Amino acid sequence: MTQSILTDIKKAAKKSLKARKDALANTQTQMEVLNGDLFADGELPFFKDKIAETGQFPLKPKTLEVLQINVGYMCNQVCAHCHVDAGPDRKEIMTRETMGQCLEVIRNTGAHTLDLTGGAPEMNPDFRWFVEEASKAGIKDFIVRSNLTIILANKKYHDLPEFFKKHNVHVVSSMPHYTRGKTDKQRGDGVFDKSIKALQMLNEVGYGMPDSNLRLDLVYNPSGAFLPADQAAMEHDFKKALKEDFDIDFHNLFAITNLPISRFLDYLIASDNYEDYMYSLVEAYNPAAVENVMCTNTISVSWDGWLYDCDFNQMLDLKVASKVKHIKHYNDDVLNNRDIIISQHCYGCTAGAGSSCQGTVA
Ligand code: SF4
Ligand code: SF4
Repeated sequence: MTQSILTDIKKAAKKSLKARKDALANTQTQMEVLNGDLFADGELPFFKDKIAETGQFPLKPKTLEVLQINVGYMCNQVCAHCHVDAGPDRKEIMTRETMGQCLEVIRNTGAHTLDLTGGAPEMNPDFRWFVEEASKAGIKDFIVRSNLTIILANKKYHDLPEFFKKHNVHVVSSMPHYTRGKTDKQRGDGVFDKSIKALQMLNEVGYGMPDSNLRLDLVYNPSGAFLPADQAAMEHDFKKALKEDFDIDFHNLFAITNLPISRFLDYLIASDNYEDYMYSLVEAYNPAAVENVMCTNTISVSWDGWLYDCDFNQMLDLKVASKVKHIKHYNDDVLNNRDIIISQHCYGCTAGAGSSCQGTVA
């Protein structure tokens, strides 16, 4: 990669694709890239043809286990590889009315896991109200995806560790690496030091301690155009380094593959890595991972209440292929009959040991 491309990517990474009016902010353009020559000319197989080889097309949902709700795309960070294209300039925020519709579904669905994500979900002005209400619904595993730095971003967020503890929230946090250089390269200057401080604050109230019920898991995703290494080996390395260097404890590490969409797609194209990356995803295709990709047990809800097979399809604006498309009309039986919408980005979920918001799947 030339120095000028690196400089351009770094500059661009201070704003979302949307704010930059980048062509890739348009999901149609992203889909054209994903369906482009590499696949249209037959160099690589379309994902649907690949899964058809093992009789897995069309991909169907199983029992709903996870309701993942994206409460807004606003974020205090602008990470280089963000699949949400989140940032301080994004204004899409879930209203209390839509949250109310989600609560109705949370109370009535059989899902055992509620997964709140963003952007930085804590930046939604109704976030605390929503957590308080949702925590009364008796959901077994209530996840909030926190980027850690938000805890230090403003005084009003400093008590988040106590707030999470009060509502027995399961905190899942991105931590691209246990070294400053690799973390700051992906997430911005100063992110590593703030993340370390936030993890120590979470440990102080009991999160992540070996025998604690207050769950604290970390998420790793590669900082470049390569696939994650073995999840268990990385967890071991992260635990050792964070304990020795900063006296930090956490429970599990989830290794997630970067999907070729949004800002990561932008990075792949700008750095001339798109074709090589797609080749490496297709070469690492693992049919066993298809069985458990997260769209088979998850429904994703956007800030404005639309329903998607997963957070990635949400970012590509691929709404569920069902008569029921909005949370206000939610119906388990109707949704369970749908075919899941797939495209070439799905190779990211089925490479190697597979990838989901909860780490590997095979
Ligand atoms: S913290 Fe998460 S949501 Fe925010 S920009 Fe980074 S990857 Fe995107
Ligand atoms: S990207 Fe979404 S739809 Fe495609 S396999 Fe992954 S979870 Fe399923």
